[in-house]
Amino acid sequence: MPGPKCKICRRAGQKLFLKAERCSGAKCGAVRRPYPPGVHGQKSRRSNSEFGKQLAEKYKLEAVYQIDEKDLKHIVAVDPVNLAKKKMEITDVIVNSLESRLDNVVFRLGMAPSRIVARQYVSHGHIYVNNRRVDIPSSKVRSGDVVSIRPSSMKRGPFQNLSARLDKHTPPAWLEVDKQSLKGKVIGIPSKENFDAPVDLSMIVAFYSR
Ligand code: SF4
Repeated sequence: MPGPKCKICRRAGQKLFLKAERCSGAKCGAVRRPYPPGVHGQKSRRSNSEFGKQLAEKYKLEAVYQIDEKDLKHIVAVDPVNLAKKKMEITDVIVNSLESRLDNVVFRLGMAPSRIVARQYVSHGHIYVNNRRVDIPSSKVRSGDVVSIRPSSMKRGPFQNLSARLDKHTPPAWLEVDKQSLKGKVIGIPSKENFDAPVDLSMIVAFYSR
């Protein structure tokens, strides 16, 4: 049966790809039940107000990156003067903060089938950054960092087919995978051009500009 993650997609009215293989298969909850969850789901309507749409986009962003309201508030609380000095827009800050998270990087490198699984890999201590264990999913990677699987974890089930998985995967331009050593490297800075989550960032900005 589709789990609570699928309910988030059904409430959003679109696939958010929160699980792994299931999201591309016939068992996808949003495909099998294309209406909001709940007993009145088939009759309920989505909000058409600007605020309702902005709120829906915010919930989607939180669900995709597995963050909460507090995390997002912290990300958007940037000093506008600093932004202007760096010639950045708030959307650059949002993308950079979310994409640089270690759990996201593990997923984007193709080392995990979903961000949720990547988060578990990190918090269970399977992930190394620059040959040292890092078990905080929200920790940030920087250009030049090398991400790898803890050597003793490589023999375990989830990582036994890592080579085949990496072979089929294409990381975004700011990441590079060495398919021989099965390591990933951060070679740039994530930008809006690399943002492919099904979320309208302008709505997030509008929500926090109220
Ligand atoms: Fe569930 Fe994935 Fe389909 Fe979303 S996209 S409804 S998480 S299977």
